[in-house]
Amino acid sequence: MYYPRPGDYIDIHNHDALPVSDIFILDNLMAHEGKLPDHNSGMNYSMGIHPWFLNESNQNQLFEFVNQNTSDEAITAIGEAGFDKLKGPSMSLQRSVFEQQAVLSEKLGKPMVIHCVKAWEELISSHKKLKPKMPWLVHGFRGKTELALQLISRNMFISFWFDFVIRPEAAELIRSLPSDRIFLETDGSGADIREIYKKVADDLHISIVELQNQLLLNYNNIFKIRGK
Ligand SMILES: [Zn+2]
Repeated sequence: MYYPRPGDYIDIHNHDALPVSDIFILDNLMAHEGKLPDHNSGMNYSMGIHPWFLNESNQNQLFEFVNQNTSDEAITAIGEAGFDKLKGPSMSLQRSVFEQQAVLSEKLGKPMVIHCVKAWEELISSHKKLKPKMPWLVHGFRGKTELALQLISRNMFISFWFDFVIRPEAAELIRSLPSDRIFLETDGSGADIREIYKKVADDLHISIVELQNQLLLNYNNIFKIRGK
């Protein structure tokens, strides 16, 4: 397990990332790919079952892989996992496998990283049912302010979709949310996290250093890191 330091840019959700100095990455491992963490990479990892790659015949095998490997200390979060109405198997299968992973997140004391497309009712309904103590991080967010605030009121964090957050119209959403609940990400797109920080710092009328400090606090908060 690694820890971000003051002055780092935190990329809270990436795929197949390579280490870059001054960028602290939470790299995502998808169970269907069968990849394990590299303990010398300087990165931390999330591991989970992405709904796009789930089906009736692989569900047990994928969950077994996640269950066996996520106690590894380099894996600090469970996911990405979640719901997608546009792609993937039935909502009932998506929901049962999501909830299995959320139960594992509670057992291991590791937060969830969530993929959610047009299935907010399902996500909130699972949250109401499971009443998790671990925070859930909704990645790739590009929805309405009211929805973001509703998720935040349920102890969730919001990471903005990399391609939305750099648009001028994203400024209003960014400014409307409590800054202790937000994260930034590149999601395997090759976007430059430093440019995303610059845009968001400008939107919030703060310096990049102030934004780095805030997102470091948020990181330490979601991962319950004290005194680092
Ligand atoms: Zn992703």
